[in-house]
Amino acid sequence: MNKVGLLVVLSGPSGSGKDTILSELAHKGQNIKVSTSLTTRKAREWEIDGEHYYFVDKDYFQKKIEEGQILEYAVYGNNYYGTPKGPVDAWLEQGETVILKIEVNGAEKIRSFYPDCVSIFLMPPSLKELEERLRKRETEDEDEIQRRLLIAAEEIRRSVEYDYYIVNDAVECAAEDIYAIIRAERHKTQRMKYVISEVINNA
Ligand code: 5GP
Repeated sequence: MNKVGLLVVLSGPSGSGKDTILSELAHKGQNIKVSTSLTTRKAREWEIDGEHYYFVDKDYFQKKIEEGQILEYAVYGNNYYGTPKGPVDAWLEQGETVILKIEVNGAEKIRSFYPDCVSIFLMPPSLKELEERLRKRETEDEDEIQRRLLIAAEEIRRSVEYDYYIVNDAVECAAEDIYAIIRAERHKTQRMKYVISEVINNA
């Protein structure tokens, strides 16, 4: 069967709950792969190298860019973040649904490389609540919180660039809505070209 995968871009300000939503989604859907990015930022206490991110230094990151192994990358705060190309292409060829959890500039690049991708913006109920969530998790110092809030306001302004938005005021509902979008997108007729030839050829 000639398969065609679905590329999903999930963005949302720091603290909007992307990781929590993604772990909810993992329980719901099979065939959902979440890309693991490279980053030059320091690991948080609970983060596992190779699972949450590949934690690398700037030289290694630069080398991967030069080797053409990075699909897109962006500078966020003072750090680099990038999507490894190999696994994403392989999963798409296998017909998987691949989620990229990336910020707005990376999302813009992915939309230009993969016009068939679906982009979803996870919206916090308010900037005030976002600030509370960022403070509560105690992973950033005050400077970094302020930097992230400034970026958040700009990201929220750019949410209109996305195909869908989901307000994350209840994690389970937000995850359910994202899963509903994914299921509907998998059945879009514009993604049917391979299915049609398969059905006809096997008649
Ligand atoms: P954090 O430091 O909170 O883990 O991530 C900061 C921001 O970088 C988040 O908005 C996150 O989605 C984004 N990000 C993580 N990985 C990538 C990536 O590979 N590419 C881009 N463009 N953004 C990323």
